[in-house]
Amino acid sequence: MDIHSKTIHQRIDWVLEVAQRHSASYCSPEEFLARERYLAEHPSAIVVLKCMDGRINIPVATNTPPGIIQPIRNLGGMFNLGWPHLGEVLANFVHDKVTTGRRVLMLITYHFSRGDKHRGCAGFCFDTEAAIAHTYAIKRQVEHVFGLGHGTVYPIVCGFETDDDALILHGASGEVLDASRLAPGAESTLSLRLETLFPDMPNQVRHDLLPLILGNIAHIAEVKRAARTLDIEHREWMMCVGRGFDFLHMPNLALIIGPYSPDLADPSGGGDCREQYARRAYSG
Ligand SMILES: [Zn+2]
Repeated sequence: MDIHSKTIHQRIDWVLEVAQRHSASYCSPEEFLARERYLAEHPSAIVVLKCMDGRINIPVATNTPPGIIQPIRNLGGMFNLGWPHLGEVLANFVHDKVTTGRRVLMLITYHFSRGDKHRGCAGFCFDTEAAIAHTYAIKRQVEHVFGLGHGTVYPIVCGFETDDDALILHGASGEVLDASRLAPGAESTLSLRLETLFPDMPNQVRHDLLPLILGNIAHIAEVKRAARTLDIEHREWMMCVGRGFDFLHMPNLALIIGPYSPDLADPSGGGDCREQYARRAYSG
């Protein structure tokens, strides 16, 4: 069904149906046990800081079951750990996991498009270098709060290339691992490559990062087979403000703005490219 051809009432009914379906499936014994099994095999908690752009859907892009990856979204993936609510959410999240013996893998993401600069992040006025610089600033804040030794919280700067849905991991010394350049046969050497990329990463965290990359390699292959249209980058027609929208487990339908920035006028309105971004999102 092409949801974009439906009336707004039909779309609202559809959203409610999706939520009910997701809830029923999420609470089913099968899904519950699958999540428990995944977490038993991969206990590191995974949190992703990301842009509210509807195309950035890391569970879909890594073939990870719903409920494993904790998303934190804002305009452009811009965050400041000094924001009171964000600081509180992250500190509580880390504390909850650590007290049960788990580590935390934190992906701090920016996004861009290889095919066209203007399919990049409107929150940064399509300036990918500025977006990368911002993610590194967040990483320094995370290290200031949770430690430079990375023994418990491991932050990674991670690009998301939206033409292929590819993850690009930035290593400790600046080198990168681009999942779109990895063949399915790269599996056998991937652990070793991650060890070189992140020499101080605890073994357990590396073991839990691995399925995300392997899932991403498989997803990229699917995306390439599907030959999807790239010029419909902003087809979002919903604006969601707050948390708890994981039932929208599908890309490019909603702008999801977390309640983290003390100034919500910025992500939900704003000027220049951001205004243009919002206008395009609602006209399409
Ligand atoms: Zn963005």
